[in-house]
Amino acid sequence: MNGGFISGDCGEEFVNNFPEAVFLLDEQGVVRYINRAGLALLGVHADEALGVSLADFVHPQQRPDFNELIFRSKTLSETQKTDIIVNGRDGCSCLVRVSINAYDNGAGFHGLRGVMISTGEEALSVPVNSMSRKRAEYLQHYDELTSLLNRGGFNKRLREEAAMALHKKKRLAVMAIRIDFDRLQVVKDLDHALEIVLFNTLPLEIAERLGTLLFNEDNAARVSRQEYLTMHPIPRSDDVFNIVTLINKMLKIFSEPFISGIKLVTHIGVAVFPDDVPDDDPVRIIKNCQYACQEAVTSGKEYMFYNEHSHRKARERIDFIKDLIIAVKEDRCRDFSLYYQPKVDREGRVVGMEALARWSHDRWNNPDTGMVSPLRFIRTAEEIRLIEELGDWVLKEACRQTKEWQMRYGAAVDLQVSVNIAPSQLNPRLISYIDTVLFETGLQPQCLELEVTERETVNDEHASVIKKIRDKNISIAIDDFGIDYSVLSRLPGLPVNTIKLDKSYIDNITVDDDYDHLVRHTIQMVKGLNYKVVAEGVEDEEQAFKLFKEMHCDSIQGFFYYRPLSSRDFEQKVLN
Ligand code: C2E
Ligand code: MG
Ligand code: MG
Repeated sequence: MNGGFISGDCGEEFVNNFPEAVFLLDEQGVVRYINRAGLALLGVHADEALGVSLADFVHPQQRPDFNELIFRSKTLSETQKTDIIVNGRDGCSCLVRVSINAYDNGAGFHGLRGVMISTGEEALSVPVNSMSRKRAEYLQHYDELTSLLNRGGFNKRLREEAAMALHKKKRLAVMAIRIDFDRLQVVKDLDHALEIVLFNTLPLEIAERLGTLLFNEDNAARVSRQEYLTMHPIPRSDDVFNIVTLINKMLKIFSEPFISGIKLVTHIGVAVFPDDVPDDDPVRIIKNCQYACQEAVTSGKEYMFYNEHSHRKARERIDFIKDLIIAVKEDRCRDFSLYYQPKVDREGRVVGMEALARWSHDRWNNPDTGMVSPLRFIRTAEEIRLIEELGDWVLKEACRQTKEWQMRYGAAVDLQVSVNIAPSQLNPRLISYIDTVLFETGLQPQCLELEVTERETVNDEHASVIKKIRDKNISIAIDDFGIDYSVLSRLPGLPVNTIKLDKSYIDNITVDDDYDHLVRHTIQMVKGLNYKVVAEGVEDEEQAFKLFKEMHCDSIQGFFYYRPLSSRDFEQKVLN
């Protein structure tokens, strides 16, 4: 077998004869060059690999991880590595270590280059080597699980349909459909059985439903666990109204409950060929409807049409992510700081403070505050799995600063610092990390409180981590109590010390009797169960009076007393 080239810029014989698989991918992860060892590993000829997404050779369950690896390789300077199972078209499957980094050959090729080294382990229990050549060819273009097209197959089909549309003077509406699972259901029940339903049974049901809306059964693809693509030929004169009717039908088939009882949240991005892309590059329409879909997700809309705006927003999001990765990984959180918002007790004494992260970045700063809001970057950090690194920094800095204040100011001796902990931080590693931080900073465990949301206490794994942390004499607070899945009946037995009533509860206590009763009753019950109650987001005297004097709330955190303060302001306004 000879290595295959498209770009022709890496054709040295030694690369071709290199004993390990070497490849070049374009920015979409499509193979542009692969050497002989690579072709042998994938079990294909050059023409079967070139122009095909490398992800198509990865075991279906690992594609999301692989796609993330591609994304990280594009945005980070260092080489990214992971172990994946490669499904060779000749029936062999093996575990390989893949290493990828960004590459620019200085002659117009921007993309990725990488190597795959087989670990020698057979990866699948299914004896795929009995797979017929025909089946292997089929899998080049089709998704193994659902029999819908895969990304490569969809590209090919899209080119055909686009050519047909131009010829027949028609248009082609292309949809990117993103599904999310109902978080409550997943959080509560994600056991093995549900995992099987989500990742094996549900896609089959989705494929069947999609079939009812397709002009041709080959007009839909499953590109990841959460993303599907469809294309729909429509008359050239068809107006937006008809496309919207089609979108609504699509939303309907996703909104009806599935046999498994799973409910989905669906977002759709739509782009139209040839309106939204050049005639000679129909495949670009996929990116454009993905941009629109991303915009629909971020703005909480069911669907969005592609437009320059969604394109710009999606680009902006990629830039934001890139800068956040650099700020956390390369700059080691140098441009982050912590603000501290005091908590005040009934006597007006400051009893503790919540550490709130701030990021300063010239491009993303909010012009009013001169900083980026955590509401923006924390969620993104969670999505791209940066939150552990950022959270580690926050925890350490909050403990270090509190200890320093305790040593410098008599008034700070008993202050307890509260640190927000994101769900993905709640794993066993956090327990030992806290030990290290307390040891290194010298802060006493009783001076530390972690804030988690109620959702975490219903997840067994998270709950067990929370219990172990509490056993170390570290306090646990339920943050934002009341907004999510809070059910008062679940309060008894929660492994926590404090309940923080959400601002949305507090906002209405002075204007709406129902809220007054609700908060009064909640505080009574919470205190009866020996938890402490903190009211968040208190903005005026009337609220503070009611909460302290009538409802016997333990402490208040809100703008009425203090806004979040930089460490310097905290020293001046609270400690001096
Ligand atoms: P949170 O933990 O509920 O923090 C309280 C938020 O309410 C803070 O917003 C605070 O500035 C705001 N707040 C407090 N009192 C008032 C008030 O009287 N009126 C109004 N309008 N707002 C008030 P901030 O600092 O923007 O933080 C937002 C959220 O970002 C936090 O909500 C928390 O969920 C998250 N966050 C902040 N820092 C971190 C962090 O280090 N790690 C994690 N995982 N999340 C963080
Ligand atoms: Mg909080
Ligand atoms: Mg809160």
